[in-house]
Amino acid sequence: MRFENKVVLITGSSRGIGRATAIEFAKEGAKVIINYSKSKKEAEEVVKEIKNISQQAIAIQADVSNEKEVQSMFQKAKKEFGTINILVNNAGLVYDKPFFERNAEEWHKILGVNLISIFLCSKYASIEMKKQNAGKIINITSTNGLDTFSTSTPDYDAAKAGAIILTRNLAKELAPWNIQVNSIAPGWINTDMNKDLPKEVIKEETDQIHMKRFGEPNEIARVVLFLASDDASFITGTTIKVDGGSG
Ligand code: NAP
Repeated sequence: MRFENKVVLITGSSRGIGRATAIEFAKEGAKVIINYSKSKKEAEEVVKEIKNISQQAIAIQADVSNEKEVQSMFQKAKKEFGTINILVNNAGLVYDKPFFERNAEEWHKILGVNLISIFLCSKYASIEMKKQNAGKIINITSTNGLDTFSTSTPDYDAAKAGAIILTRNLAKELAPWNIQVNSIAPGWINTDMNKDLPKEVIKEETDQIHMKRFGEPNEIARVVLFLASDDASFITGTTIKVDGGSG
């Protein structure tokens, strides 16, 4: 059990990659805080699943782009479990819309959930991590932040590129307290985020992946656990691409 007695907070863990990550951490002994914004029922189901394997978990509702809600989430987490050892900034949001129909309000929303949330959660988590002179922060970014594949999500791509450089910035800022900050850039993963993709888009995208398939949420979760483990003791400021091969 690599994470016995460690406290892990995973943003956006009611569904998808966050959910899979929460369950993998619990299987390895961690106490888990499930964050969600809207999917209360799904978040409670994750808590139930974790309790079924005899581990501790709570669900906390908070919009991770809102500083007051983030602050209150960390206060509740601290009250429940005493500290935070590992933060996974996973919450994300994307939507397709033609370029000329997009507006600034939607840009702010996408930047808020995918990028500013990383700053906010890392700030409140590292206040606790600094006291222990140890901590791990893992940001779920995207291969969309490394290159442009399609022009349909410019706000999301810019947010993810920002998150990749923010990872490097935070790694340098927080290194004096032994807080390691890394990112994982997934390619296509089978989650709700892609559930409405037209069949022909799925085929086109699959053809471009070396391994000829989309990934599964736990294939990202296992890399999160690696970065949070002692095996990654000398890694910080790095982004690991997990995309089945591309280019
Ligand atoms: P998903 O299945 O759509 O789940 C998104 C999660 O984020 C949900 O738990 C959702 O909770 C939460 N969330 C959304 N807005 C939030 C907010 N304002 N505050 C708190 N939580 C919020 O997505 P996913 O595919 O697992 O994606 C997880 C991460 O991987 C994201 O950062 C995404 O950009 C990244 N990623 C995914 C893929 C992919 O192909 N799936 C590829 C590259 C990167 P509620 O339902 O409660 O709102």
